[in-house]
Amino acid sequence: MRILVVEDEHRLREGLVDLLSAADHDVTAVGDGRTAVETGISETFDLVLLDLMLPQMDGIEVCRRLRQSRPSLPILMLTARGSEDEKVAGFAAGADDYVTKPFGVRELLARIEVFARRASSAPAEREILELDGCTMDLGRHHAIRNGDMTHLTAREVGILRWLHRHQNRAVSRSELLERVWGTSGDLQTRTVDMTVAKLRQKIERDPTAPRIVVTVTGAGYAWGED
Ligand code: CA
Repeated sequence: MRILVVEDEHRLREGLVDLLSAADHDVTAVGDGRTAVETGISETFDLVLLDLMLPQMDGIEVCRRLRQSRPSLPILMLTARGSEDEKVAGFAAGADDYVTKPFGVRELLARIEVFARRASSAPAEREILELDGCTMDLGRHHAIRNGDMTHLTAREVGILRWLHRHQNRAVSRSELLERVWGTSGDLQTRTVDMTVAKLRQKIERDPTAPRIVVTVTGAGYAWGED
């Protein structure tokens, strides 16, 4: 499985990476909440191991945000105290299960095995969007137009995914910054415009008259033409 480990304690994080890699999992590890959201939205994982107490953004908020853009992504919370309040808050934010720290290696691997079995028994879910003659395979990060395949970057995939998921409304540039880049305010919203312009060149029939990622004057961007 592709597993995202979110843990700020360096030694524990490295320990988890070693443990999970040794169990043949493909592991990516990050040490703060903001990076966790950014990575979890822009890349594809089968499971997230999420610590609760994190710098920049706590695990509950990370869980809530990941849940919004990836409803079916399994999230296993690592709670330090194992208090009932924490567990309830974790489940309310969308966690699927929790492990109380300190945990035994065998217990953790057994829990992960449950997710692995579920993942292998569920039909593989391909994320394919089609609009105006363009096929966008978000899982595989490519778009096909007129038989030509183009690679899509993680940000481009993140933008398409977020706009499609919220296709009933316009999405502001600052919302895209927050949801796709995992940041707010630091970067200028101009970054979003430049990324959208590149994306349009890859997927649109005519980037000057776009029909897939459309500009909504005064509001931002939206999925598809009205
Ligand atoms: Ca921590």
